[in-house]
Amino acid sequence: MRAVIMAGGKGTRLFELTGDQLPKPMVPVGNKPILEWQIECLRDNGVSEICIVVGHLGEKIKNYFGTGNRIGVELVYYNEEKPLGTAGALAHIKEFLKDDYFLLVYGDVIFDIDIKRMEAFHTQKNSLATLFIHPNSHPYDSDLVIVDQNGQIIDFDSKSNHRTYWYDNIVNAGFYILSNEICKNIPKNNKTDLEKDILFKNLGETSGIYGYISTEYIKDAGTADRIHRVSVDIKNGVVAAKNLSKKQKCIFLDRDGVLNKLDGLLYDIDRLVLEDSAAEALHKINTSEYLAVVITNQPVVARGFCSKNDVNEIHKKLHTLFGENHVYLDDLFFCPHHPDKGYPEENPEYKIDCGCRKPKTGMLLAAAEKHNIDLTKSWFIGDTTVDIKTGKNAGLRTVLVQTGAAGRDGKYDVTAEYTACNVLAAVEYIIGENKKDSDK
Ligand SMILES: [Zn+2]
Repeated sequence: MRAVIMAGGKGTRLFELTGDQLPKPMVPVGNKPILEWQIECLRDNGVSEICIVVGHLGEKIKNYFGTGNRIGVELVYYNEEKPLGTAGALAHIKEFLKDDYFLLVYGDVIFDIDIKRMEAFHTQKNSLATLFIHPNSHPYDSDLVIVDQNGQIIDFDSKSNHRTYWYDNIVNAGFYILSNEICKNIPKNNKTDLEKDILFKNLGETSGIYGYISTEYIKDAGTADRIHRVSVDIKNGVVAAKNLSKKQKCIFLDRDGVLNKLDGLLYDIDRLVLEDSAAEALHKINTSEYLAVVITNQPVVARGFCSKNDVNEIHKKLHTLFGENHVYLDDLFFCPHHPDKGYPEENPEYKIDCGCRKPKTGMLLAAAEKHNIDLTKSWFIGDTTVDIKTGKNAGLRTVLVQTGAAGRDGKYDVTAEYTACNVLAAVEYIIGENKKDSDK
């Protein structure tokens, strides 16, 4: 696959760092320019033919990278005489874009991605355009993406919308695989916006545009503050660790009594209230090497208290509340089943002896498969002996919290590795243990 890097922006938000002497993609993060991080990641994924679209101060980019020989790639340049928007240059480099599809990258994003995995998704879906999408720490001021069960993008929810509803935290990261088909009508010499003029025009149930959801690291480094944060993440090894070609570490979390206050069987969305330390705990996980994945039994569906859709709404509220606190969950799995039949109001479709209901390990194994997780390096935090039993059944280490049921359910005779007063203390313990492990 070939790649195009859009590096022509003016970078006005970075003038305090660049003094308008450096183009934005040349701003150093750690010990090298953003663009060099990008090119190295592309190269390491076998993407070695790259066209850099330059504009403002483009000579500095050309002088620094030249033919790309030094880094082990073949670079060509397209010089935008006047700014053509986020996609207009594509009309001018058709010879370079001779394959069925190509990668499009913006020059102010730091990423470390298993690109072959995304490419396999793109070809398997026969996608017109594949967007890298993920939860981020500020969904409330981000453009959100609405995907169907198949991963197809059916709508966008603009950050300018006044949101009076709960929403999933799924954000467009600005990293694309585009088919030549979807780019064929881009006019020459006119400004073209990738989202507005190309992607938005194809929305709906047969958009053919797909969202590739991933937990890998990709962040906009377009302001001085963000550059600082990305530099810290690089230094701490978080950026490289989250590449899905490597085994992931995960902190699995129970929901009720751990992340939100235990309040019986929860089916009334208004009763969902976060545990006091939950957002801070997630902040610690989000800035570490660990993923944060919820594993929860929700027999409210099987028992007929609410529909699966109602549970999804409750989870949208959870994602919205966490987003407002600048934190996110990497994924969430719930079991809607319950094995005991014979109640008048029950929903027979879900009254089955499934493989996912804790303490069975179905959800953990599904999460491990989906996100390439090493269970032996992962943890389970729960408030019941069922949670601790589940973790042990899957070979995880476990922490019992003293919020929620605080282990008083007494269903299994199990002992957690550690007992913590709340989820924040549990996460601090785990991250401390992780430091000890890596010192060995
Ligand atoms: Zn189940």
